[in-house]
Amino acid sequence: MRDLVIIGGGPGGYVAAIRASQLGMKTVLIEKDEVGGTCLNRGCIPTKAYFQNAKAIHTIKRAEEFNIEVSGFKFSLEKAKARKDSIVNQLVSGVKQLLKANGVELIKGEAALIAPDTVAVNGEEIKARNILIATGSVPARLQVEGADLPEVITSDEALELTEVPSRLAVIGGGVIGLEFACIFSHFGSKVTVIEYMPNILGSLDKEISKRMGVFLKKQNIDVHTGAAVTKIEKKDGEVLVHVEGKKEAFTVASDLVLMSTGRRPCIKGLNLDKVGIETEKDFIKVDENYQTSVKGVYAIGDVIGGQMLAHKASEEGIVAVEKMAGLNSCVHYHAVPGCIFTFPEIATVGMSEEEAQAKGITYKVGKFQFAANGKAMTMGEAEGLVKILADQNDIIIGVHIIGPHASDLILEGTMMVKNRMRIKDVIGTIHPHPTLGEAIMEAVLDVHGEAIHLA
Ligand code: FAD
Repeated sequence: MRDLVIIGGGPGGYVAAIRASQLGMKTVLIEKDEVGGTCLNRGCIPTKAYFQNAKAIHTIKRAEEFNIEVSGFKFSLEKAKARKDSIVNQLVSGVKQLLKANGVELIKGEAALIAPDTVAVNGEEIKARNILIATGSVPARLQVEGADLPEVITSDEALELTEVPSRLAVIGGGVIGLEFACIFSHFGSKVTVIEYMPNILGSLDKEISKRMGVFLKKQNIDVHTGAAVTKIEKKDGEVLVHVEGKKEAFTVASDLVLMSTGRRPCIKGLNLDKVGIETEKDFIKVDENYQTSVKGVYAIGDVIGGQMLAHKASEEGIVAVEKMAGLNSCVHYHAVPGCIFTFPEIATVGMSEEEAQAKGITYKVGKFQFAANGKAMTMGEAEGLVKILADQNDIIIGVHIIGPHASDLILEGTMMVKNRMRIKDVIGTIHPHPTLGEAIMEAVLDVHGEAIHLA
């Protein structure tokens, strides 16, 4: 009898396996594909590899700004894909080594539950004291006519392309859709984004998502909001996306359509019904200990819903196994940062203005524009802002950044929000000069109208 069987080796499952081993549990990890899951093989890492290609193109195109003459350049998606695949392969083998070094038994195969303490894989039955389901999510396709055309792809297939489409229609203006929109726009595609909701990045602080809309326009990316796709068809060699717009119907002609309309939990073939595990809209229901409706069976990560983020899945994995081991751990859900790798980057943690208003929280706002930050100016990336929200007790409840290196800068905001720091706790923290981080300090000071470099 093992202590723990984990189904799914994504950032939720494999991190949980390592932590369980550290805690002395005899652990088996079952993965049907490659360890690292969506994040490493079809998500975070591959897209960020392409984001760096896009950034390099962006820099070359701005060479003149730095008084460098560039006579021309060529980009090969085929070679960029090879670079991306090589990074993924290195990281996959790194994860395998880590699992081995920690004494985790890795089994390749598709697992199913056959009893609350038994998992079947490759015709074998494995018994365990506890089972952890970390099977993640898969792309969800919009149910419209033409959605099954070969030219209609999801993020999984977009990462396998070897040629840049001349025109790309992106259905869905959420995080994944906009990351691909920016990447392929830099690669040379003419990109059109079609979003059903009234705003792109609907869950973000409105001021930040509005700013993003302006930046997308500047990049020559067309964005249609409040626009419902009614049908996709292939005609005379092009793919036509028919859309019901705010005022009238229109058609977007493209070569390829990227469907980025959300993700659904991966529960197929797990036999959840047979063992009595309850779900809601296919997401596995869990209690505060990540235990499902069946004692001894736990679930974490994308498959239980909430924010679909790799670091959230990992943290839930760690906390779930620590709880199994009797430790008093918890996930600090009020401080889960989210990063969006667009041009420029966006990163947020904590509450948006709209969330604070909906909760009836009285709040103050401090802002600082990168236009007044020396480092951002030297980088030629002085666009965007830092925005801080503090409640009536001066506790920092939200940090929102749109601008250069937002994804790295958000760490400071995460520390503030996670530790419920007050404005006075941050003031006096010396920020080195010249750095982008000074913009955070200035935004904090601005909550009391005391920013130094703000007229
Ligand atoms: P997954 O990573 O989906 O892993 C689940 C694993 O379970 C898979 O490997 C699967 O093969 C396996 N599995 C499923 N069923 C079985 C079975 N029956 N038997 C055995 N194995 C099974 N998040 C971020 O935080 N930052 C980002 O920048 C980011 N970028 C993204 C970009 C894209 C294009 C996409 C699609 C996602 C991105 N995400 C990002 C989201 C992130 O990838 C997920 O939130 C994260 O991977 C979820 O981790 P998980 O462990 O819950 O599930």
